[in-house]
This record gives sequence, C-alpha cells and structure tokens, in this order.
Amino acid sequence: MEETHYSVAIDGPSGAGKSTIARAVAERFGFRYVDTGAIYRTVGLAAKRVGCAMGDEAAVKALLSGLDVNIGYGVKGEQREYLNGEDVTELIRTPEISKRASDVSAMPCVRAFLLEMQRSLGRRMSVVMDGRDIGTVVLPDANIKIFLTANVERRAERRYRELREAGLPVSLEEVLRDIEARDEHDTKRAAAPLSVAPGAIVVDTSDLTLAESIEAVCGVVSAGLGAKA
Ligand code: C5P
Repeated sequence: MEETHYSVAIDGPSGAGKSTIARAVAERFGFRYVDTGAIYRTVGLAAKRVGCAMGDEAAVKALLSGLDVNIGYGVKGEQREYLNGEDVTELIRTPEISKRASDVSAMPCVRAFLLEMQRSLGRRMSVVMDGRDIGTVVLPDANIKIFLTANVERRAERRYRELREAGLPVSLEEVLRDIEARDEHDTKRAAAPLSVAPGAIVVDTSDLTLAESIEAVCGVVSAGLGAKA
C-alpha cells in the first residue's frame, strides 16, 4: 500500500519566524522541514557569482539552463543547499543574498525552474514547507495551510538579533528598511505574489513568544491532521 504523505504549507513575510517555527513543527510531527527561501537564495547566489545585474531576467534565464540547484539533509537533519554540487549553505544568509533572492524570485523563469523540484519534495515525504507561495502555488492541495505574520517592527527586531548573533554588523534601521523593501517587493510582484492562500489559517505572532508561536501552529496542525488523517 502506498504510504500517506502529509503536507503543511506555511507562508508569510520575512521575519515572521517561519523557519524557526516550521522547523520545530516538523520535528514535533516527524515531518521533513523544507525551507524554500533557501532555494531562492541559492539561485540569487548563482546570479551574483556570474555578475548578473539586478533585474536582468534575460541573463538569469540564460544562467538557469546550466544550473543544478538541489537540497539535501545533513547529519543533524538540517537542510543543506547545493549549487552545482557545491555546498553553499553557509554562504546564502547575508543581506546581499537576501536582496538577490528577492530579485530573482520575482522572475517567472526562476519560479518555473524551481516549481517541480519543490512539488516533488512534497510528493516524496511528509513535509512542513515554508515560503511565500506554498499554499497558493506550490502545494495548493496541502493538508494544512498557515499564513504566519507579525507587525513589521517586531519582524525587524527578530531578524536584527539573528543577524547580529551570526556576527553580521548590521543596524536595526538597515534591517527594518530591508524588510519593508522585501515586503513591498514580495507582495506587489506579478509572479506568485505573497498572499493568504484560500483556506489558510492566519497566525499573528506579534505578541507571542517563540514557544507560544510554536504551540499555536502545532495546535492548528494537530486540529487539521485530526480532521484529515
Ligand atoms: O524566506 P527567505 O527570506 O529566506 O526568502 C528569501 C527571498 O526568497 C524572499 O524575500 C522572497 O522574495 C523569496 N521567496 C519566494 N518564494 C518562496 C520563498 C522565498 O519568492 N517560496
């Protein structure tokens, strides 16, 4: 008998805590966590490396034909990103690559290039997949869809702390401006803009601690699986 796979789609703006929360939820339910932002970041890194100008879709399109973008899982179960076989996991978290990822992710050729790869991950295993268009485009039939959000100041504070902890010399103002710009870009782009998927449950984490946010999302997933399993 074919094994049943479950899928949880978590979408939302930058800094809403998606990756930390999605990872914890995946662990709780024994599902794989798939961070799709990391996949767009990998394409952004590739575009930077070959010197594509920001917004130059023709150059990025040409680049894609020879590009091998993949993910795997490390010994601790963490997702790792591969660009033409090279492990680039540690290279894609800089503010510059955030901007590059946002830039290439607005290009329909990039979204089409990555779509089947993301869908096939959802077919092969039970996943908690996070991104911007998971419930709307990648896994429209996901068992559970969640839109995770928080106000922009709270999101900027969280991202600022993360980047400082990683040793990056950024200022809070810079992070706030970056998040506002990415929000604008992600919600206004023509290709798969960030929006609440039909049937998604909105979870606002502005006034929740991380532990409370995880419990809130786990509650939604348990209720959804209970109803659908
Ligand atoms: O989530 P993260 O900040 O790592 O994503 C990097 C960028 O990739 C986002 O700003 C967004 O523009 C883009 N992205 C996307 N669709 C996804 C995941 C990420 O457009 N499913």
